[in-house]
Amino acid sequence: MIVQQLNQIQSHYGYLPRENLVALAERLAVPLYRIEEVVSFFPHYRKTPPPQLEVHVCRDMSCHLRGSASLISDLEANLASEITAGRASVCGVSCLGRCDRAPAVRIHSHAAGKHDGSHEPLSYLGRRNDEVVAVAKALASGKEPVVQPDQDADLPDRSPAWKINAYAGKPREERYQAVKRVIEAIRRGPAMGDAERDRIIQSALKNAVLLGMGGAGGQAFKKWCEVREAVGQRKYVVCNADESEPGTFKDRELLLRTPYLVVEGVLLAGIVLGATQGYIYIRHEYEECIAAVREEIAWAQAQRFAGEDILGSGVDMTVEAFVSPGGYICGEQTALIGAIEDKRAEPRNRPPELQTNGLWDMPTLVNNVETLAWAPAIVLLGETQSSAAPPATRATCRAIEKAAPDTDKSWYGGQGRPFDELATMILGSDADWQRRHGAATRFPGMRMFSISGDLNRPGVYEIENGITVGELIDLAGGIRGGKKLKAMALSGPSGGFTPAVLPRAIWPRKLQRLLPETIKQVELLGLQMHINYFRVWDLMLGAGIVVYSEDADLVEQALACQRFYSSESCGKCVPCRIGSTKFTEIAADLAGRRLKRSDIAALSGESSVITDLAFTMANTAICGLGTVAPNPLSSLLKHFPTDVERYVSS
Ligand code: SF4
Repeated sequence: MIVQQLNQIQSHYGYLPRENLVALAERLAVPLYRIEEVVSFFPHYRKTPPPQLEVHVCRDMSCHLRGSASLISDLEANLASEITAGRASVCGVSCLGRCDRAPAVRIHSHAAGKHDGSHEPLSYLGRRNDEVVAVAKALASGKEPVVQPDQDADLPDRSPAWKINAYAGKPREERYQAVKRVIEAIRRGPAMGDAERDRIIQSALKNAVLLGMGGAGGQAFKKWCEVREAVGQRKYVVCNADESEPGTFKDRELLLRTPYLVVEGVLLAGIVLGATQGYIYIRHEYEECIAAVREEIAWAQAQRFAGEDILGSGVDMTVEAFVSPGGYICGEQTALIGAIEDKRAEPRNRPPELQTNGLWDMPTLVNNVETLAWAPAIVLLGETQSSAAPPATRATCRAIEKAAPDTDKSWYGGQGRPFDELATMILGSDADWQRRHGAATRFPGMRMFSISGDLNRPGVYEIENGITVGELIDLAGGIRGGKKLKAMALSGPSGGFTPAVLPRAIWPRKLQRLLPETIKQVELLGLQMHINYFRVWDLMLGAGIVVYSEDADLVEQALACQRFYSSESCGKCVPCRIGSTKFTEIAADLAGRRLKRSDIAALSGESSVITDLAFTMANTAICGLGTVAPNPLSSLLKHFPTDVERYVSS
């Protein structure tokens, strides 16, 4: 309750007046320090009245590439007197999830003395500097801004063509068929209900090889199994929609275009696992998604697909949207659980895992938006509901895991293979590797990617796993201005920058041994898009991809990425807190031309501040941020010496 109440107070007043915090503490019967510990953690909250005008400009990857630094300078120069007088502020902020329309700007206009929530922030996306400056100046002087029509306001809605969208083109009343199906089985008796639950986990999710889409890429059925088997007075399902990784915005499109898939995915998981409460945890900057999800939940409840006694079956599963108070770290699953529990969103060590000790210490399934959104389609488009007599005993996790996948019946994918087998299969044989290289034949399933940067049509694309990187770039309209590819960030900033050509010297040793000597280099554009295939190449493949043309300045990009990590580190682990700041300082020194060639040589060596810090952070970090934070600068120094050279003095 604390977080949601604070959100309401801040939305109403524009800040958190002390008397309201005291009143909240009394109302909730908690000490004031409990409120303060939450307030002080989230940068979204403020305890003093805001200036009349707040301009937030995204300074991360794609926005930086599209000139957000110069936009911030222009705004500061044009609003200088208002800023000095305390009537306006301009600040660079972390990714706003609008990388397809960079640069992204949010303007909060609080009329003087009237912090009554009547001024929701307005977004200005993909605008020229002079347009944004004109709007900001008008608002700062209390005038209505004259805004040019937004040519791209209606980005193409690709959802009718998505295979994830099992209800494309169908009337609203025909949705929630996967929920109906499992509820029908439950109505036929407990044994049939259990058999259907097993079938969904085993025959649908396992056979389909649905992978977690949040980054780690584990098989989704395992988490479902573990929560189903776990013992607890209550169970929960949490949909992680706190999409804050720079370059990633696919969940935004799913929530906005197909909220019914996400809501049904949460309901389905809850009914299958025996949970009674679900949360869709959405970042506060996605206002339109929050509205779409809330409207969908209300409709589903009115139709009795959600809430108490679903379709008269006696099964309860309530869903609600939880608005995140912000911060990249909230996307870390244990931190997210902390935020829902009204605590500081600091990650915690695992085990115990959330599947047994999650929300309020109860068994909890945390899945990404896309993972849950695939579940209804996989259940509906796969095999039909079993009408055979149920087995005498319920399937255990162990039995489901050991059972051979029945790939013929999988609609979504199938033929999932363990990593070693995959590596050997792809690379082990093979004189004909080059012939196969790029052939989209070996990877099951589909996945959605957000792709932005130097592209003609940045956006969200649903692709079949196994198409090549080049084919995805073609789908996105190719590289702007017909330029050549220089590099890609294949997992936002987390994976660092990967060069367009991978020379043999930087391949993992295993590949150097396996692939014929005649192959001297590999084109990034020819690699097949699948998380496990990329792991073979020692590359991370996330949901957010940023493309850099030959003109891109990767030193500036590295600085933007390092700044992101140092400002988003929660500070709980000392090496991450200090190390991420140190990386930003080094990147700033490089971008500021304060480093000499000898400094770079020392930084790039086998044993340097960078490698030592990266090693320490990786071995002490509680969460993934501390592990990946060194990657932008490390990859810049490793793969792009020419870019670095332009910034150093002798
Ligand atoms: Fe926080 Fe960094 Fe530790 Fe993660 S690794 S818990 S972000 S300090």
